Amino acid sequence: MAVAKVSLLDALHEHFGFDSFKGNQEKIIKSILSGKDTFVIMPTGGGKSLCYQLPALMSPGVALIVSPLIALMKNQVDLVRSYSSKDNVAHFLNSTLTKAQIKKVRTDLQSGKTKMLYVAPETLTKQENIDFFRELEISFIAVDEAHCISEWGHDFRPEYRRLKEMIDMISADLPIIALTATATPKVQSDIVKNLELRTPEVFISSFNRPNLYYEIRPKRKKEQTIKEIVKFIHLHKGKSGIIYTLNRKTTEELADMLVANGIKAVAYHAGLDATTRAQRQDMFLLEDVEVIVATIAFGMGIDKPDVRFVIHYNIPKSLENYYQETGRAGRDGLEGNCICFYSYQDVQKLEHLMRDKPLSEREMGAQLINETVAYAESAVCRRKVILHYFGEKYETEDCGKCDNCRNPKEKIEVKNRVVIALKAISALEERFGSDYVVNIITGKSNPRSPHSATISWMCSGKEGV
Ligand code: ADP
Ligand code: MG
Ligand code: ZN
Repeated sequence: MAVAKVSLLDALHEHFGFDSFKGNQEKIIKSILSGKDTFVIMPTGGGKSLCYQLPALMSPGVALIVSPLIALMKNQVDLVRSYSSKDNVAHFLNSTLTKAQIKKVRTDLQSGKTKMLYVAPETLTKQENIDFFRELEISFIAVDEAHCISEWGHDFRPEYRRLKEMIDMISADLPIIALTATATPKVQSDIVKNLELRTPEVFISSFNRPNLYYEIRPKRKKEQTIKEIVKFIHLHKGKSGIIYTLNRKTTEELADMLVANGIKAVAYHAGLDATTRAQRQDMFLLEDVEVIVATIAFGMGIDKPDVRFVIHYNIPKSLENYYQETGRAGRDGLEGNCICFYSYQDVQKLEHLMRDKPLSEREMGAQLINETVAYAESAVCRRKVILHYFGEKYETEDCGKCDNCRNPKEKIEVKNRVVIALKAISALEERFGSDYVVNIITGKSNPRSPHSATISWMCSGKEGV
């Protein structure tokens, strides 16, 4: 179906009241309208929903939109309805609906009035739903948050793995549009492979968030770190911010400390009951509190445009997570400060958390942590490292908006020291952890060490390390 440019713009204006497309939206919409499989990679806030909503409104039949979070589905449907005068233009179908509600949805679908149906992956795995969908005219399938398909993504959902199987049962040749804000090449290839996208048109937007400032701070003693955080928040009085920590207990402790320092803060984690969580989330959105101290349970689908800072009290478990979590700052395009406290102990804590996982998961986790550590320890522009991680080239020498660009680290000659370290590791037959090796090289006494004497010759008479 060839769609003239003017008619697409007209449709955009008619249905959403917007005057122009953002980024790749127009090309994406043309691709899906022409019946091609389409793969959209666009950062959060880029305007992914419109890429399937507009073609859904313009096509005969109903588009099925697979969405991972039941809590967000209603939100999405309400939003679509707010643009339209007809309430039945969009519906959702998931386990929260009553029998009567499901009947109403089905009637609207059969009458052809509904253009978009949001479904949970679990909805698609039910045979009765598949049988029902087979009788409908389906325009295309949209898989939102498609990274949920991949174990390398930041929120893997096993039931996503069966999507293609279900889609094929509904109809063999349905065009699929997959959308994600995740850009790691590993996740991308998983999505294409698992949904069996047929030579898809791929649209990748830049992941650069030019308004975000990235900084790594060494994490020393707890009291000192808290002091630094309090000082930072006082400098940003009245502004909204999120602090991420590794565990529930720390969110509570830290929130208490902030409150004791005159900051309006609350904790948020999965151990709180749903009502309390919803309440605290609203307090943050409505600005009754300035700071939310949370585990990673907080944030997915949160659309607060004026979050001014995201502080990581612990290093995140992957660079992908870091990008998504910091991405919640500055969605309005204004200032966003992203500060991450980094210590080797926290890395060990992350490793410890994985101890009971199966080997393959541990290996995957360890690789993700290593990439985060490399980011934290790098002297290269933070933005460059992040974008490189997403397979994107960033050529500017000085981004001006990260600690490494603002205060370049002094370059030092370390060749000799590296040689000593390598010799020590080799003399220890690579059997020991880094702590142990460091202790030996630096000559720290170590009761566990039978090697000190053997290795001390390497360091003697050489420059101190
Ligand atoms: P994503 O899913 O990529 O995170 P959304 O689809 O939620 O992003 O869109 C983010 C915001 O951008 C929404 O407020 C949406 O209304 C707005 N938006 C999308 N497309 C346009 C456009 N063409 N013009 C103006 N605003 C747009
Ligand atoms: Mg979205
Ligand atoms: Zn930089």
